Amino acid sequence: MSGVYGGNCGTRAMTEVEGASARPDAAAQFDVIVVGGGHAGTEAAAVSARAGARTALVTHRFETIGEMSCNPAIGGLGKGHLVREIDALDGVMGQAIDAAGIQFRMLNRSKGPAVHGPRAQADRALYRSAVQRILREQPNLIIIEGEVVDFVYGDEAHYSVQGVKISDGRKLIARAVVLTSGTFLDGLIHIGDQRIPAGRADEAPAKALSEKLYASGLTMGRLKTGTPPRLSAKTIDWSGLDRQDGDDPPVPFSFLTDAISTPQVPCHITHTNEATHNAIRENLHRSAMYSGQIEGIGPRYCPSVEDKIVRFPDRTAHQIFLEPEGLDDDTIYPNGISTSLPEAVQETLLKTIPGLETARILRPGYAIEYDFVDPRQLTPGLALRAFPGLFLAGQINGTTGYEEAGAQGLIAGINAARWAAGNQTPFVLSRADAYIGVMIDDLVTRGVTEPYRMFTSRAEYRLQLRADNADIRLTPLGLAEGIIGKPRADAFAARSDQLETASKLLQARNITPDEAARHGVPLNRDGRRRTAWELLALPDVGLEPVLRIWPELTDLPRSAVEQAAVDARYAVYVERQRQEAETLRAESETHIPADFDYRAIAGLSNEMQEKLGAAQPTTIAQARRVDGVTPAAVLLVLAAMRRDRRASARVA
Ligand code: FAD
Repeated sequence: MSGVYGGNCGTRAMTEVEGASARPDAAAQFDVIVVGGGHAGTEAAAVSARAGARTALVTHRFETIGEMSCNPAIGGLGKGHLVREIDALDGVMGQAIDAAGIQFRMLNRSKGPAVHGPRAQADRALYRSAVQRILREQPNLIIIEGEVVDFVYGDEAHYSVQGVKISDGRKLIARAVVLTSGTFLDGLIHIGDQRIPAGRADEAPAKALSEKLYASGLTMGRLKTGTPPRLSAKTIDWSGLDRQDGDDPPVPFSFLTDAISTPQVPCHITHTNEATHNAIRENLHRSAMYSGQIEGIGPRYCPSVEDKIVRFPDRTAHQIFLEPEGLDDDTIYPNGISTSLPEAVQETLLKTIPGLETARILRPGYAIEYDFVDPRQLTPGLALRAFPGLFLAGQINGTTGYEEAGAQGLIAGINAARWAAGNQTPFVLSRADAYIGVMIDDLVTRGVTEPYRMFTSRAEYRLQLRADNADIRLTPLGLAEGIIGKPRADAFAARSDQLETASKLLQARNITPDEAARHGVPLNRDGRRRTAWELLALPDVGLEPVLRIWPELTDLPRSAVEQAAVDARYAVYVERQRQEAETLRAESETHIPADFDYRAIAGLSNEMQEKLGAAQPTTIAQARRVDGVTPAAVLLVLAAMRRDRRASARVA
């Protein structure tokens, strides 16, 4: 039965597909077909099947499902929020990394919980097998190996998509298709002046599909990304290098994981130096990125080592994290030296780096160029407007990163299942609901000029959109959508009850300043009783003094009390943000006069004045969409317009 893998409810569909592969003219039928088994495709396929749609995932090879093309790590600043949100909607990524994580670290721990960034390094093979296991066990889902070369159209003139054609002649029919082709669309690898057509190292590109999409008249472009050489751990001299351990205990990603059981390992840190920089400068003309060979634009926030030397000429050293790719794997990922220099130059520069002087390259670093589709052609539900029934998710929409891809896959999968069921109203998360909403709104309204990655600074409602409360924000929406399995539904109900009990208790207990002082908590001596909830909102009162005052709180599950304490800390700000969001929503159609003078607004920064002055938006909604303009700036514009109106009313 090679080439077809079925979940436990997929038996009937499997038979049909086997029939179809035996007779290329016969078409197997599904509700939803997902093309691509990367991070977007796996989430799309799993959620579509969870929504009850009969789903087929078509991908080049079963064993590359869940492959991490580059860094063997999940999460980070902003990205960690996306993983928690995917998990809150019962997605795959959080559970897979909890099964495969070999070093967990909460980034930004010294800052407030709103910007904490959960991150974990993965055992690459364990991650793949965790994703593959979750998909194999998913009812309603089957997996088919093959390369999709074209779509089946119901109506050629209007590109209404009703299935896919596979390179061996098979045809699969569906009501909706999700395309998640990643870096494979006309992928081209560059190592120095060497060019290799590929979607990833040693994997063929998807050329035929790229040609079809270009021919259809879609607006498309080229982007690029890169990866460092992989090194043999045995050949690295670890003795003088700084060691970095993960958190103890590790904090899981998934709201369903109680504890991490995978063994944890350290990373090590080394640095580039002047000798490395000189070696790069001398060979810059041989780098594919600097020789003019690459036309695509790369990710500014994930620069190659060549970019770092050119953009920061005064820096005398750059950090390199030496990250193991697995527990039983000799491969080391040197995070920080992504490059497209020729392999011989890569060897030369490694010799200059402490600890790497005798390191052996297992696979050279490379850059890759690939096609993307301008995401402004998508609806907020990730449907491609010009191709009814076709949804796009992941790297193909101009993003970079596993987490960004997975999050889009989830939304595209939900909407494909809705479309297949005859429901054309899209499931959309707003900017106030989730980082996922921020990302998709950015993509479909602003488009991309470089590979898009998530940062906490992109979200206006950061205090509300925390990684710790992703389940409280989103799981109820998932339950209403019918995409949450029973284990998570039960766990969520229990956690919500515990959280409600803890919050009520914090709001019911109160204390005078004199009583608080006796417990070592100094308060303003105004005689006013304050609740435990109010104490937690004060900047210098943490949870421990509150537990000292009311020890009965320790009888509740610690996680619920901690969560309620974070909610208490942010409650006032979250309410303010909610009101601001409401104002912006209510005023979105308010007209901005053509002669409106942004320079006259006190408190509006020069940058905002320039951006708004140049864009000349005619409504508040348009002002909000101007690239880089913050909601705070738009609120200032609204306030100034109201003042102007009041002034003219007085004159009249
Ligand atoms: P992918 O993970 O690329 O998966 C695409 C899947 O689709 C594959 O399974 C492929 O086999 C399948 N497929 C494609 N076309 C077809 C077809 N026609 N028929 C059937 N199956 C098909 N991200 C970062 O955040 N930082 C980085 O530094 C970074 N560096 C990278 C370096 C390299 C060399 C590469 C290749 C990627 C890098 N990435 C980086 C990007 C990251 O890997 C992607 O963002 C992420 O994997 C995108 O997920 P995806 O699901 O969209 O696509």
